[in-house]
Amino acid sequence: MSRLSKSQFMRGLQCHKSLWLYWNKYNQRTQPNKAQEAIFDTGTEVGILAQHLFPDGHEIVYSSDKVEENIAKTKKLIESGTKTIYEAMFIYDNILVMVDILHKGKDGWEIYEVKSSSAEKPAYKNDISVQYFVLNGNGLNISVAALVHINTEYERRGELDIKQLFTIKDLTDTVIENQPFVNEQLLLQKEMLGKDEPQIDIGIHCFKPYGCDFKEYCWKHIPDYSVFDINNLGWERRFELYQKGVLKLEDIPSDFHLSDAQQLQVDCELNMKDFINRDGIKKFIEQLEEPIGLLDFETFQQAVPSFDGQKPYKQIPSQYSLHILNGDKLDHFEFLGEPGKDPREELADSMIEDTKNCKTILVYNIGFERTIIKKLAEQFPDKADALQSIIDRLIDMIIPFRSKDYYTKEMRGSYSIKLVLPALVPELSYNGLNISDGGAAMNIYAKLQTMTDTEEIEKIKADLLKYCELDTYAMVKILEKMKEVV
Ligand code: SF4
Repeated sequence: MSRLSKSQFMRGLQCHKSLWLYWNKYNQRTQPNKAQEAIFDTGTEVGILAQHLFPDGHEIVYSSDKVEENIAKTKKLIESGTKTIYEAMFIYDNILVMVDILHKGKDGWEIYEVKSSSAEKPAYKNDISVQYFVLNGNGLNISVAALVHINTEYERRGELDIKQLFTIKDLTDTVIENQPFVNEQLLLQKEMLGKDEPQIDIGIHCFKPYGCDFKEYCWKHIPDYSVFDINNLGWERRFELYQKGVLKLEDIPSDFHLSDAQQLQVDCELNMKDFINRDGIKKFIEQLEEPIGLLDFETFQQAVPSFDGQKPYKQIPSQYSLHILNGDKLDHFEFLGEPGKDPREELADSMIEDTKNCKTILVYNIGFERTIIKKLAEQFPDKADALQSIIDRLIDMIIPFRSKDYYTKEMRGSYSIKLVLPALVPELSYNGLNISDGGAAMNIYAKLQTMTDTEEIEKIKADLLKYCELDTYAMVKILEKMKEVV
């Protein structure tokens, strides 16, 4: 039998079929997208930084064709009295693991598993437990098995304080208690891998604890528009329908409770109808006063803060686009922070100036913009009044769509601008843009902070500006459409 790695063991814990497919139908996997790659990159960056918690260690550099060599090297380092090893590699009972940080403490060996997340997650217990299992099998006396994760309370002031950036959580007792479970699961996984493809149906396990990359393979039988697309219906309830054999909207039993909005979604789809409450839309439009600003922010977040006053994973505004509509006149303003420089103060100044004549400022989903502006006001008290004045002029464009005063079946129950726009203005699309969603914009801007290729930086900046501009231009077009229908 081939070796099982720690990540494969974790995959098998989530779903046996996923592990089986990984071994036997590897090519059916969906490749990671840019957002997932960015998460991996963050993990690598955080892993390297955490090594400074135990400095002067010896690193084993991973290479898939040097497994035997690396296992032997780890053994040799231990025998020669090395106190700290990064990415130490061990094998036991055909299970291969790498330990992020292995440190010789006063009572024995200490295992530190580094995660870039902001808190402990239930899956980490098994991750560390399998490492303990293998190291224990190698005869190492393990005194500590711990998790190292990001401390979100840390606020950077000057040089990065590595000790403050991380939280160390001792999980030794839990990991020891968990050993029989690991042993049992390993046996089950090995047995399963010797058989045919497991017959496991789709379920919540396809998303928990991680999104499975074999979803395309297993979810082929789900129609393009199904009960899984009913907006805001919990996964348990979606699977309740699925387990009754209900896949299509038309097959939902009449006694299955849906909210009014969900029922509207189903009815509009089945009857091929739209729902437009002209009075509601009119009332919304009547409160808008020209010049109307249509504003949208992009933000970014970092596990490791780059700037003073920044906390891990706290959203920082990096760019905005503003269209100003006054009669037939439409102007555009924009701001994009320079990579490597804290964008907040310049962004606040620029936004205060650009919005000063707007009587109404339309945003799409007010909670986000209001929170960002409030944070800026707290950070720059001398600008608090001007920023509060922006907040006072904000109106949420989502209202007519969330309240379903304006609903078309193409919105598929959602009021996100990403569905409202193609439903109302199909000729305008994010397709063809190099950056086409907020998540990608956020990750790419975070990456810009460490890039050095000026040509590439300029190209990305142009893509970011184009994307954000389209967001507010989309709002202009949606507003036009709303005026048209009333
Ligand atoms: S998509 Fe779901 S059922 Fe299929 S392998 Fe993944 S977790 Fe298992």
